This record gives sequence, structure tokens and C-alpha cells, in this order.
Amino acid sequence: MKERLRRFMEGRYGADELNRFLMVCGWVLLLLGFVLSGFSSRAALIAGAALISLSWALLLYSVFRTLSKKTSRRASENYAYFVCKNKVLGWFRRIKGRWQDRKIHRYFRCPQCHATVRVPRGKGKIRITCPHCRHQFVKKS
Ligand SMILES: [Zn+2]
Repeated sequence: MKERLRRFMEGRYGADELNRFLMVCGWVLLLLGFVLSGFSSRAALIAGAALISLSWALLLYSVFRTLSKKTSRRASENYAYFVCKNKVLGWFRRIKGRWQDRKIHRYFRCPQCHATVRVPRGKGKIRITCPHCRHQFVKKS
């Protein structure tokens, strides 16, 4: 049996980080879908059915990815997932950093290039020079 499974999986992509993510999302959405389906309102029933369908799509997609023989395409999907995940985590890290920094610095957006500029807090009205585009604007720090 083990040997047959091994032979079946030969040349197939198998599990990766993206598949684990899809599985977790799928199961969570399935659970939410069942919870919503328990309510009697029509909107909850529709939302529950939609979540259950979506969760099935995610779970089936993750099975498809595991069994797929186009390994390079699956690997590039996994890579794209990592890039996306790092962007999201980076955004949260920046928000957290700003929150911890809020008593020392203020953050402004450059009106010209929309870059974020950090200035020391409590210096009164100051002229800020954007480090990206050299545009100057006045703000109260
Ligand atoms: Zn700028």
C-alpha cells in the first residue's frame, strides 16, 4: 500500500506552504459556512452556502496542486504566494513599528510623490523636504 502510494505520487508536486495555507483557509471557511447555515435568516443562508462553495473550491484546488505534475508551475505559484505573504506581513510590521514609534515621530505623506516621510515629533511648524523627490512642504510636527 505504501509502495503504491509512493509510486502514485512519483513526479507529482506534493504539499507546500501555499497548499497548507489553502487547506487552513478552506477548513476555516467551511466551518464558518456551516455556522452561518445554522441561522434562519435568508442572507445568512446565502452567505453560508457561498462560503461552503468557496471552501470546496480552495480545498479542491489544494488537492489539484498536490497531485499536479507541472511542478515548475506549482513552484512559481508557491513563490508568488511567498512574495504576497511577505508584502502583507511587511505592511503589518510597518504599522506596528509606527505605533511603537508614535510618541517620538510623526509620519506624513509627500503631497507630490506620496512617499511616507518620518519627522521628529514636537518641533512645531517645520519645512519637510521629501527624501525621494526633494519636494518641500510645511507641517506641524
Ligand atoms: Zn516626495
